[in-house]
Amino acid sequence: MASPASSINYRLPQIEKLLQLNEFQAHIDSLSRPVVTRLMQEELRAIRESDDFKSKGCTDIDAIQRIMSRCAKTEHKKLQRVINATGTIIHTNLGRSPIDVEIWDSVRDINTGYNNLELQIASGKRGGRKGLMCELLQALTGAEDGLIVNNNASSLYLLLAELAKGKEVIISRGEQIQIGGGFRIPDILALTGAKMVEVGCTNITTADDYINAITAETALVLMVHQSNFTIQGFTEKPDIAEVVKRLPAHIILAVDQGSGLTNETLSQSETSIAQYIKWGVDLVCFSGDKILGGPQSGIICGRQTLIASLEKNPMMRTFRPSRIIYSLLEALLIKKLNHAPSGNGIAQKTIDEQKKTLDKAKRLVDFFPRNLTLRSLPLIIGGGALPNTQYVSFGVSITCQGHSAEAISKALRRGKNPIITTIKNDEVLCHLATVNDNDYLVLQQKLQDYFQELCTL
Ligand SMILES: *Cc1c(COP(=O)(O)O)cnc(C)c1O
Repeated sequence: MASPASSINYRLPQIEKLLQLNEFQAHIDSLSRPVVTRLMQEELRAIRESDDFKSKGCTDIDAIQRIMSRCAKTEHKKLQRVINATGTIIHTNLGRSPIDVEIWDSVRDINTGYNNLELQIASGKRGGRKGLMCELLQALTGAEDGLIVNNNASSLYLLLAELAKGKEVIISRGEQIQIGGGFRIPDILALTGAKMVEVGCTNITTADDYINAITAETALVLMVHQSNFTIQGFTEKPDIAEVVKRLPAHIILAVDQGSGLTNETLSQSETSIAQYIKWGVDLVCFSGDKILGGPQSGIICGRQTLIASLEKNPMMRTFRPSRIIYSLLEALLIKKLNHAPSGNGIAQKTIDEQKKTLDKAKRLVDFFPRNLTLRSLPLIIGGGALPNTQYVSFGVSITCQGHSAEAISKALRRGKNPIITTIKNDEVLCHLATVNDNDYLVLQQKLQDYFQELCTL
């Protein structure tokens, strides 16, 4: 049934002409001209090679539509602000802790100009990268000294490589855990050249277990926060103060605390860094972007002599953060020490704002009564912090006649300000505790656009 060849358009638009079209200017601004050019080339080639094109040709309008949609898809790859409607406050897929705006703004001048990152201003001589960190961490945790690295995985690697290479490290069988994608404590131990000595059982490890495992080769006892799971029932953990008392002085006790809880009040059950230091733990490491609420970083606090030896390890050069991280952490810790709201961290702030969540959910249901239903939903801290703590919170379930849950949640991720929802029992859930006031208005607008365009109200 081929139509006469003469009536078929086999000419595809020229790229130079396409690049000048108004339709593409926003994509060029967003993706860069070379990237858009490349997408045009690829899409035009795909059209040319398709059977459809060979039999029917293609209009300019169709070609432009296809390229536009390819550009839009590529834009999804860009790092961009999204609305977290998942009810998980510290969400690893969503960048963990957002930085407080006031703190972000306060480091602008440091980062857009030269700064004293490695200069002692008084003497004019070269200095270390630490700035005020030692003083701030002392004040916050009671530790003698502290050190910043790129993330908490680096903290663990550095402390094991420096202090336990070729030696034995005692660790409980209940704490040989995997944190997130592919980060396993036993693997890290093996990589650093430390020998793992397993003690206790999955559910019970006692002070005796640690003490009885000590040999002439023991360098370190490592305790790791179980982070993303809990064991309930018949369980026992050692009294840390007792382990400290009974460990020979030359054996280091290190704790990977994980969440970085310092002076936040959101949990009574989680042990703070200061508490471990008070018990006499030699080194405590934790993430800077979980409960602490700062930029991605790892922080190690503890004895000055040990911190000094970690700082001298050649690997430190690979793990040292940039001035962006130092400046943000410094600003955050000062606010935290002064109990200013901007120093609270996203977890504490979200818990404090919780009272407003029911109102927010009700208001949203009032706007879209046919499509939204009020739901009581659990709010969790996430990021491997407080795995057994759930807060009662609120949100809405979203329905749209004729649209599957998958289709709705996908549509809400499209375009600017993607909304990240969850699906449970075939229902789209939009948690409101993790949606801040600015994002709330965007969310409302986006829902309105969606219901108007796609659903029959
Ligand atoms: C999160 C976590 C880590 C990993 O920290 P990163 O900052 O992601 O590298 C290590 N240990 C514990 C106990 C954690 O909770």
